Amino acid sequence: MPLTAIIVGAGIGGLATAVALRQADIEVTILEKRTTIEEVGYAIDVPPNATRILKHFGMDMTKLRGCHQKSLDVFKADVEPMEAIRSESRDIGDDAPFLSVHRVDYHEALRDLAVDPSLPRKPAQLRCNSRVVAYNPSLGSVSLASGDVIHADVIVAADGNNSKAHTWIVGEEHPARATGLNNVRFTIPSTVMLEHHGMKQLVENTKDRMCVYIDSVGNFIAHYACRDHTLQNFGLYHEDPPDDHSTTTRKKKEIAWQRLGHINSTFASITALVEEDGTYLWQIVDRDPLERLHSGSLVLVGDASHPMQPKMGQGAAQAVEDAAVLGAVLKGVESKSAIPSRLKLWEELRRPRASAIQLMSRTDPSHDGWPNQEDKEKAARFFPHGDLPLTRAEMAAWAFKYDAVAEAHEAFKRPTQELGTNVNP
Ligand SMILES: Cc1cc2nc3c(=O)[nH]c(=O)nc-3n(C[C@H](O)[C@H](O)[C@H](O)COP(=O)(O)OP(=O)(O)OC[C@H]3O[C@@H](n4cnc5c(N)ncnc54)[C@H](O)[C@@H]3O)c2cc1C
Repeated sequence: MPLTAIIVGAGIGGLATAVALRQADIEVTILEKRTTIEEVGYAIDVPPNATRILKHFGMDMTKLRGCHQKSLDVFKADVEPMEAIRSESRDIGDDAPFLSVHRVDYHEALRDLAVDPSLPRKPAQLRCNSRVVAYNPSLGSVSLASGDVIHADVIVAADGNNSKAHTWIVGEEHPARATGLNNVRFTIPSTVMLEHHGMKQLVENTKDRMCVYIDSVGNFIAHYACRDHTLQNFGLYHEDPPDDHSTTTRKKKEIAWQRLGHINSTFASITALVEEDGTYLWQIVDRDPLERLHSGSLVLVGDASHPMQPKMGQGAAQAVEDAAVLGAVLKGVESKSAIPSRLKLWEELRRPRASAIQLMSRTDPSHDGWPNQEDKEKAARFFPHGDLPLTRAEMAAWAFKYDAVAEAHEAFKRPTQELGTNVNP
């Protein structure tokens, strides 16, 4: 009998896990609380550590309609002319490119690989309107709001940063916390911007890179192209107003809009091209790394496991790594008795890496190093050989070069007694 898995949540993390487990010959059911699984949102970075895995999945990369980024360039934007401050390479010189991709295109490409019946091995079954309310890691089951209880050999919680699944693993709730940072996102067709005098240079700047425009009061705008360069994607990062925890989303958007307009005259003209209602506000949350990522048959992937700030563009990439490693460690398992040791190995591979990236993601693109000594010391525990990356360039290189599938295969080559002794502070 093939192994069975339940995946809770059909976001990028849940779908990537469905692809990896399907390809490992596991029968997958995805439970999604929404009525459909249409993705919302704007563009997203897909760094080399993720594109390497997507290629391993056999994805037709043209479906992503991605734009190749060779660098991230930071500009001081509230001076005339704008001043280039620093540049980070995103080109690691192998066949895994750094892409910027529309989230909807990314989501659809993963969904096709998970459910397309014409592909080899059994397609994942997708059940919408299925809200999971409780987990039983020792029995291997989930309970739905409808009262149904569903059993499987492996349960994967991929239900995003409001997930409570970790409570069944670490024994108490550690909610992801608001950082006070918000991100207002919107897209503008490239053709529309090119018609406006003064914006042509901004569009040309995104030909092969991401641009980050900062001002002297701490706002910054990430700007890059997606969908074969037909769309320009903007994300304005700004702090909540001080002493005001009750501000509505609408008010926060208004504040963001005023700040964008004040950065310089070009950004002021951009506010005239987009309706404020056509923007989307994300409240940025994060959490310190959890002590454990699995218990019994239950594992956590993606934001359910390691919600992080988007400053390194690694949240979804870490979800894809979680997925690929889970597929690699479960592939070929014939007896259910082997599952506990495989999930233990999965946690040993995933926890140090994802936790370190969670902490690195607190560094601002305008600041070249750890934001504070405390986070640096927490992260150092995951680098027992003293090779903690110190600058953003070192952090990026360390993140991008990783080959999650190769690492999992390497782990199997270690002598059996060595499995289980990896760093797990
Ligand atoms: C502003 C911003 C910019 C970002 N930029 C990048 C970037 O450039 N690169 C990058 O790699 N990452 C980026 N990220 C992070 C990335 O978006 C997330 O890490 C990623 O989308 C997480 O995917 P997920 O599948 O874990 O969670 P989600 O996308 O949150 O999916 C969770 C799914 O579970 C479902 N669900 C929730 N609860 C239940 C339940 N009880 N029962 C059943 N279903 C349930 C939800 O409906 C949803 O479909 C960014 C994040 C933000 C906020």
